[in-house]
Order: sequence, then structure tokens, then C-alpha cells
Amino acid sequence: MMRIAIIGGGIAGLAAAYELEKAHNAGTPVTYTLFEARERLGGSLSSEIINGAVIERGPDSFLTEKPAAAELCRELGLGDELIPSNDANRKTYILVRNRLVALPDGLMFLVPTKLVPTALTPLFSFSTKVRMALELLHPPRPSGLPDEAVATLVERHYGTEAVNRLADPLLSGIYGGDATQLSARTVLPRLVEMEMQYGSLTRGMLAAHRKMRAMAKTAQANGNGKSAGPRAPRSIFTALRGGMQQLVNALTAKLDPASIRISTPVSAINRNTNGWSVTAAGTTENYDAIIFASPAWAVGALLAPIDPVLGEDLSAIPYSSSITVNLVFDESKLGALPEGFGFLVPAVEGRAMLACTFAQRKFLGRTPPGKAVFRAFLGGIRNESLMTEPDEALVAVVRRELSEILGEKTFSATTEPEYTQVTRWRRAMAQYSVGHQERIARVNSHAAALPGLRLAGNAYDGIGIPDCIRLGRKAAKELAAQA
Ligand SMILES: Cc1cc2nc3c(=O)[nH]c(=O)nc-3n(C[C@H](O)[C@H](O)[C@H](O)COP(=O)(O)OP(=O)(O)OC[C@H]3O[C@@H](n4cnc5c(N)ncnc54)[C@H](O)[C@@H]3O)c2cc1C
Repeated sequence: MMRIAIIGGGIAGLAAAYELEKAHNAGTPVTYTLFEARERLGGSLSSEIINGAVIERGPDSFLTEKPAAAELCRELGLGDELIPSNDANRKTYILVRNRLVALPDGLMFLVPTKLVPTALTPLFSFSTKVRMALELLHPPRPSGLPDEAVATLVERHYGTEAVNRLADPLLSGIYGGDATQLSARTVLPRLVEMEMQYGSLTRGMLAAHRKMRAMAKTAQANGNGKSAGPRAPRSIFTALRGGMQQLVNALTAKLDPASIRISTPVSAINRNTNGWSVTAAGTTENYDAIIFASPAWAVGALLAPIDPVLGEDLSAIPYSSSITVNLVFDESKLGALPEGFGFLVPAVEGRAMLACTFAQRKFLGRTPPGKAVFRAFLGGIRNESLMTEPDEALVAVVRRELSEILGEKTFSATTEPEYTQVTRWRRAMAQYSVGHQERIARVNSHAAALPGLRLAGNAYDGIGIPDCIRLGRKAAKELAAQA
């Protein structure tokens, strides 16, 4: 019987455990123990239903185009619980000098592709618009050059304002990170390739778009979807009707409770003649293999005594911390909010808030009629100090900033919320900094030299929930195949 330890019970560790449970039930000679430091499973996934409103402490959804999360939900019987984002009302604003400016139509991966909306948007100054037009003449970049920051790539094509008003807020919304540090090759690989092939990112994006349209037409002409007419576009995001906790609960329900140890941080690991020893809560046990699904900084500390280079590389992956502040209001006490899902705040605006989602707009049916849920994000790589502020101070900052941004008539700082909730996520989001791929290649080659070792989680090959699920399941499948 192969014994596997899973360290970390976030979504990556839970997905791995689920896969091993399935293998065990199908007769594969494999067992597992899942160690989780905290008193609950799920890691960053955590939601509650408060007075009928779904309140997400961490992620609220996943990208629809990455199938691993929806597939797992369907397997777990949650297919009917999957809901699309309300894309008919999808509009996102950027705060520019304390004014909310809608992202112009035609933006694809930070690249403006439509002339008229780009020319008319107040998001960019006249000189940036001229630069965007001239970008069409940008020469190709030779291949083989070293990685660079996203900000450097965007600056080269569209100028500083595009970095400050577009790349920075969009990426800090996803990674809680800093465009001057994030790796272009990892975060925007398509743009790096397009620059090598076309020079101009706008031309590259338009060519890709044409290709996709032609492929869709060919597929239709070949009969796919002919009778059904053109397929409705998929929503950008998918959520669970009852919140992300539904996924955590459904996964946990599939696992053998005897295999799960919550409130049990792993404090040491070691290699021995038969495999690995794992020490947690003062007890040491032997395992044939380990899936590390805890953050890379925690894995680095555990692995450093066994392979110092591996330990150092893992520990060097930067992480950002963030805070979510959820505020529920009676809508009758607010003025008319701007259309759309919410807004992003560029760092140059000098505010504590990074972004705010109007949750009742993004996913319909998860908020009772007449209520508004503001989901504000604070912190990020540039504002770690907020993590030590007390809850009341953070709620007060969000209420003040919402009032200043939306206007006193729409949102008065004196209007009392019906419910407030503050959640701190300490060092939860890996940052794919410049050189990430080289670092991960080194990590993988060192990890491959340690038999029975697998790594899963958001530090390696995708920050979102679907990637974490994919890596967790893959690690488990690979090990089960050796049992
Ligand atoms: C506020 C926020 C919003 C987000 N929004 C989205 C979104 O909308 N869509 C999306 O796709 N992604 C989103 N993400 C990203 C996504 O949620 C995470 O990348 C993903 O959940 C990480 O899963 P994980 O299993 O790798 O790590 P984690 O969830 O961090 O789990 C790791 C677990 O390891 C445990 N652990 C640590 N050390 C030890 C130890 N020594 N022994 C035992 N256990 C240990 C930790 O306690 C933790 O539970 C968001 C993240 C945050 C923080």
C-alpha cells in the first residue's frame, strides 16, 4: 500500500486528496493523510450566507475558459449550482483622478484593438492615444531576450500612462501585485509571442482575433452547431450559487474523515531509506510520497534541510497579502451606483482600496433584492502595512473612500452598513516575478531528483482556482499511477 502525505488543505490539496480517494475506492493500493495547519479546510476559498446574501471572503469565481474547476464541480454533483457572471452588465471602471472611467470597448489582454472607443475614451490623454496609433508600426523584438517586467513591455508599446491606468490596476486586481515586478513572459505570454512575431501588439491581437473568427466560421460551416445557430458566448466568470464554500464542502464530503488532520501544521520532513518522514503535532510518521500543497514559502522552509537550493528557490517566490472588506447595505439608503461590476484603483491614485466589486451585479441571484454588497480589496504588494490595522479602521477607510469615489450623494460615509466583514489573507497570493519560469525550471529539476515529491498550488503554473485544481489532481494521479 502506497502512503501519501498531502501538506496543505487549500483547493490544490483538497483536489489531490479527492483524486487519491477516488483511486483508493477504485482499488489502487494507495492511502493518504491530508495535513492542514488551520482549523478549517479550503485555504483561500471561504464563503458564508448572511441574511440570504452570499459573502465571499476570498475568491468569488473562476475563469470559465479554464475548464478544471467547472469539471470538478460537475463531478461533485454541483453542475446545477454553477452560475455565469452577469456579462450583459459587465462594465469595469478605472479610477482616474478620482473619476470613474469605463474601460473602453475592444481591450484584449491590455491591448486596445478598436479605434473609435480608444480614440474617444477619457481613460488616456491625447498623447497616449497618438502613441497607441503609432504602436501599429512597432518593429518585432528579437527572440531569445531575457524576461522583463510587464510594465516594461507595456511601456515600450503604449507608454507610462497605459502602465499606470491599465496594466497596474488590472494586474493588481488579479495578483495583488506590481506591474513593475511581474514577469511578462509568465503573466502575458501571448503578448510576448505577438511582439516577436508582429512587433505591434495591436496588430498581433487583431490577427489572432481574425484567426479565431475564421475557425469559428469553419466549424459552423462543417456542421458543428449548424442547427443550433451561432453559439451564445460563454460568460467570463463562473461562480457557485451558494459561494465557494460549496466546493470546499462537496470535496470534503467525498474524503474519508480518518484521512484528514486539521489544525495540524507539518513542522518538519525528512528523507529516510523507505521514503519520507513527516512530523506534525509532535508525531513523526513515514510516507512513501508527499504532495506539497502549502504556499511555496512554507514548502521552502520544510525542504531547505533536504535540498538547500530547492528550499531557497521556493522561499524566494514572492507572495502578497490582501484584505477583503465586505459591506452589506440596504439599497434604499444609497444613490444609483454606476452600471457594471465595480472599479479598479491604480496605485498612482494613492488610495488604500485596490478594487471594489458590486457583488449583487456580478452574479445575479446571490444577494436578496434591495441589498447591495460591496466587496473591497485592500493591501497588495505595495500596502502590506494595512494588514496590521484593526477591522474597524479598515471598514472606516473603505466607507470613506467609497464616499469620495462614488460621491456623497450615492454613498454617504455616514450610512451605516447592515453587515461588515474583514478577512486578512497573509502571504496568500504568489507573485510571478521576472525570471519566474527559470526559477520554476530549477525547482522542477531539483524536485524531480527527490523520488515521490510533488508540488501543487498557486506558486507554479497559474494563480487561479482552475490551475490549482489541475495541478493538485495531476500530482495525485502521477503518484497513484506508481502505486
Ligand atoms: C482575496 C483573494 C481573492 C482571490 N480571487 C480569486 C478569484 O476570484 N478567482 C480565482 O480563480 N482565484 C482567486 N484567488 C486565487 C486563488 O484563490 C488561490 O490562488 C488558490 O485558492 C490557492 O489555493 P492553494 O491550495 O494553492 O493555496 P491556499 O489556499 O493558500 O492553501 C494552502 C494551505 O496550506 C496550509 N498550510 C500552510 N503551511 C502548512 C503546513 N506547514 N502544514 C500544513 N498546512 C499548511 C494553509 O493553512 C492553507 O490552508 C484569490 C485569492 C485571494 C487571497
